[in-house]
Amino acid sequence: MIYLDNNATTRVHEEVVEAMAPFLAEEYGNPSTGYPLGKRSREAVDRAREQVAEMIGALPEEIIFTSCGTESDNAAIASALAAQPGKRHLVTSSVEHSAIILFARALAPDLEVTELPVTTDGHIDPDALAAAIRPDTALVTLMWANNETGIIQPVLEAAQIARKAGVLFHTDAVNAAGKIPISVSEGNIDMLSLSGHKFHAPKGVGALYLRRGVPYKPLLSGGGQEEGRRAGTEAVPQVVALGKAAELARQRLAGNGAGKLAELRDLLEERLFAAIEGIHRNGTAEHRLPNTSHLSIDNVPAGDLLILTSEKDLCISSGSACSTGKRDPSRIMQAMGHSDERALSSIRLSVSSMNTRDEITDAADIIISAVEKIRSLRPQTNGPVIVAQ
Ligand code: PLP
Repeated sequence: MIYLDNNATTRVHEEVVEAMAPFLAEEYGNPSTGYPLGKRSREAVDRAREQVAEMIGALPEEIIFTSCGTESDNAAIASALAAQPGKRHLVTSSVEHSAIILFARALAPDLEVTELPVTTDGHIDPDALAAAIRPDTALVTLMWANNETGIIQPVLEAAQIARKAGVLFHTDAVNAAGKIPISVSEGNIDMLSLSGHKFHAPKGVGALYLRRGVPYKPLLSGGGQEEGRRAGTEAVPQVVALGKAAELARQRLAGNGAGKLAELRDLLEERLFAAIEGIHRNGTAEHRLPNTSHLSIDNVPAGDLLILTSEKDLCISSGSACSTGKRDPSRIMQAMGHSDERALSSIRLSVSSMNTRDEITDAADIIISAVEKIRSLRPQTNGPVIVAQ
């Protein structure tokens, strides 16, 4: 198997498995208890908090552990609204993850949402952001990098604009963390979401960075865990795993980890662009994650391509959501102004530090022969889609 779908999820690093294993077995204490078994769990959670904080240049007390990126995103929006009862307007972008967009839209009519458009390169316009902020804006939330296209938004500039306007700023860094260096140390980011399974920790653990001094109202109430900011007994094994994964990611990035990802991604693109005619990169080549390649191939429906590539045990994904056999064009591609046809022929290839150059060249060969097969079965027109068997 060749796994090139690391924006969907990642393999758990073996050092992460090792770090969390004792907490699935003999170290099962509740961190809120005072005897040695519980105290050891508390110490492990505290250490993980330091490791996550260090990855993003935050203070340990600014890290709240959550169950996933979705919870962190939802909690950021919910808190901004609960803490500022008079403010009922939110500014975001049209290319956010559904954990932001659907949660915000569901709050209508009590919340008015401005979804900033993006250029064909996938970026928001900072001037449009400044113009969209109103006196009743509770929050600006803008993703650090898009999960589908890998496009990196001008987050630090946006955070500065929000700060100048006196508005809270949140960023969904779920698909950026671990792939590029991320730092909150400039001080304009008030909240930031992370998710462990995107950088080699297991699923089911995330974090919300909350800048010291920012008012906060919890999404989950109950026990006083996480300093009263997120109730629920800490998932100690997962939290330990997140801490270890954060430490490893920080070390990788300090050692040119992003450059190494880009080498693999560029090798893949080089091979594909040399062999396939009518192949297009979606979005800017510069401001994007070093691990992500989002491509459209003329006259090659992504659904057909994915059937053939998965037969060869190559894991990649399309930009389209497939439900009940019907393929919908990606709303991200639509927001970037692309045609439905181009959206329906888009694929996402996302590498990780665990991929090898041999895997990349084999993957390119599999994609190239799948494209040739589909094209040989399909007229070179905009004819109906033939689904390969
Ligand atoms: N935000 C972005 C940008 C994502 O890519 C994802 C996951 O795909 C999420 C939020 C949700 O994270 P989780 O799967 O941990 O809930």
